Amino acid sequence: MEQEQITLVEPGQFVISRGSLPDPAPGEARVRIRRIGVCGTDIHAYHGRQPFFEYPRILGHELAAEVVAINGNSDLRPGEAVAVEPYLNDPDSPASRRGMTNCCESLRVLGVHCDGGMRPEINIPLNKLHRAASASMDQLALVEMLCIGQHAVNRSLVSSADNVLVLGAGPIGLSVISFLKGCTNRLLVGDLSETRLGFCREVMGVDATVMVRPDANPEEPIRTALGGALPDVIFDATGNRGSMHSTFDLAAHGGRIVFVGLFQGEVVFHDPNFHRRELTVMSSRNATSEEFGQVITAMESDAVDTSPWITHRLNFADVPGQFGEVISDPNLRKAVIRMDD
Ligand SMILES: [Zn+2]
Repeated sequence: MEQEQITLVEPGQFVISRGSLPDPAPGEARVRIRRIGVCGTDIHAYHGRQPFFEYPRILGHELAAEVVAINGNSDLRPGEAVAVEPYLNDPDSPASRRGMTNCCESLRVLGVHCDGGMRPEINIPLNKLHRAASASMDQLALVEMLCIGQHAVNRSLVSSADNVLVLGAGPIGLSVISFLKGCTNRLLVGDLSETRLGFCREVMGVDATVMVRPDANPEEPIRTALGGALPDVIFDATGNRGSMHSTFDLAAHGGRIVFVGLFQGEVVFHDPNFHRRELTVMSSRNATSEEFGQVITAMESDAVDTSPWITHRLNFADVPGQFGEVISDPNLRKAVIRMDD
């Protein structure tokens, strides 16, 4: 079939054009895209700052959709609402065989390494569609982003005895915080924006926040907020080199550090400090299929309420003209692109 699609042809330039979509292959479904979440990856690609990113590319990996047609065996039915898991892994790879479908060697992410969902319809492998019973399309558009937080929290093995620090209170930091609430001894959030910290206190209900500036050591305010202790678990969701390096000095002895964000460079740490504290450092990438189910369940039981996160809405046809303006608004928390209902 022929349809209109939006392609990022080069940094800063979206173009609407006609494109063709083949019939779904065996094992795939055709889905109608209803909402598209805009995330940091899309913003970096728009600015030309996403390394190894190839243009032209159809963006869109945070996808809420509706099943149109199915080619294969599936419990799904046309008309059902689904969240799309945009991580296309090789099921025969060693990592996939161990259940780590989020980080397989040949992983391709829709809208990043191959064309994504910024178009009315797209074909998706059946096992990458996660059905929702009652979640709204707005909620489903935020599932993939929340899964990043759920996966990081699952990786950390956090317990109710742990004092936890989340650095970075953008959408990914908020996703981490969503799944930490009620699971920690004390939950502290650090950021350099008082607006973001206020949102964490007032809407997210975290125990305390701390202003973290690049030119000041935050150890004292962190200790004050944690009754003199350092955090047992630190999640870094800043993607900032300085912030990530600082975690080695801010973690408690025996602590864990989870790098959710990333930067293009080398993480360098002082080995005697690393050993003295017996730190565990881990990366966190994407999320597993199982975690998509966990997140949808959390949303449908109101354990996670993302409605206050969406600050901006864009119509599909307005993306070429308005995307740049929306992503440069300092009040942006989360933008969602709406397809025609
Ligand atoms: Zn994303």
